[in-house]
Amino acid sequence: MKVHLIKDGDVGKNTFSEVVDLLQAISGHIEFYYDSNNIVNFTEDDVIKKKVPDEKKFGQSIQTYAEVENSKYPAVRSIRPYESRPLRTFSFPFLRKTTKWTTIFDKCNNYRLNNNIPNNEFVILLTEVSNTNNWFASLDEKMPFNGFIHTADWNHFIKCQDSFPIAFEVIALVLQKHMFNDYNEARSSVHLDPIGCVNDMCLEKKDIKLKLRTADICPDCMNKLKGKLTFAEINQALNIMESLRVKMLFSQNFKQNVPLSRLIIDAKKRIFLPDFGNIEIKLRPLEKTLYLFYLNHPEGVGLSFLRGKKEELYRIYGELVSIGDMLEMKKRIDEMTNITSNSAAEKISKIKAAFVKSIGEELGKNYYIQGGYEEVKRVVFDRKLLKYLNN
Ligand SMILES: [Zn+2]
Repeated sequence: MKVHLIKDGDVGKNTFSEVVDLLQAISGHIEFYYDSNNIVNFTEDDVIKKKVPDEKKFGQSIQTYAEVENSKYPAVRSIRPYESRPLRTFSFPFLRKTTKWTTIFDKCNNYRLNNNIPNNEFVILLTEVSNTNNWFASLDEKMPFNGFIHTADWNHFIKCQDSFPIAFEVIALVLQKHMFNDYNEARSSVHLDPIGCVNDMCLEKKDIKLKLRTADICPDCMNKLKGKLTFAEINQALNIMESLRVKMLFSQNFKQNVPLSRLIIDAKKRIFLPDFGNIEIKLRPLEKTLYLFYLNHPEGVGLSFLRGKKEELYRIYGELVSIGDMLEMKKRIDEMTNITSNSAAEKISKIKAAFVKSIGEELGKNYYIQGGYEEVKRVVFDRKLLKYLNN
């Protein structure tokens, strides 16, 4: 089974590649393809600027599957009073780009046509443009191998990297396509009240947290999958969902009272925390150079002493960016170690942000580079937990 992921021009490259990495990390019969060169564009005719009147409406999806024009949100079904504290705040009302489902699925069909994608392969569009029904994700009524995922606003509802819930929704669409014979069946079979199944409807968008936390398929839905997908495919989907669940738990600080994870640097110098759901900590080359340098120096090094350590930094950087002009590389390290430039301090805060985003502050502080202004900087975790892999 092939799943083609495409994106519009506003979806960040990093988020898109993270989603692809997360899905491809567990290999199997469900294969994920992406085409980073193909960018879907929404024209001015495709979108309207639609008013989001208040937080309540912002957090609700519309139950009807019909396109709603000039909607005043007529069919909203309120499951419970809206009481969550938003993670990212907006000032209401505001206008946002909104499009119709049919417009979104036309984009999928165009891609399918232009790239000769057979009718039994998925084309899923990741888009920053919101849709008239205010859904996170849906399949196409007319062509159930088309789907979309709205990639914006996640961090209003859930505190973690956007790529986690987006990747989760990709799996959810693939499963939903196979659970139901047609769209009407899907419509009548979703769980309107959230039970922590992949098939929860989440009319209240914040309820998405429950299904992400359980990452489960309820027995009824599992029965519907039997015979439609192979055991291996179901297992792969569950494994991907589980890997996302664990990553989300760590990044949401649910699991802060756990032993520290090992930290693995693999042969490609990627940084992983294998005991925290194998989360990868992604850093840019210069940030990573600085981080690997500090891993080598458990005793700590003050920023003003970095310029005396340039040879070591050249060497580490050279291993990370194997192709490149040596002079140019040295220049970048020279800049970073120039104490008047503030460059090293900025990189240290980027490194900190990467850890905190991935595993939360409490766990993260053990791994990021600590130390106040003009103090010695160091990474405190026990180096017994540090392991370099050579292949
Ligand atoms: Zn279910």
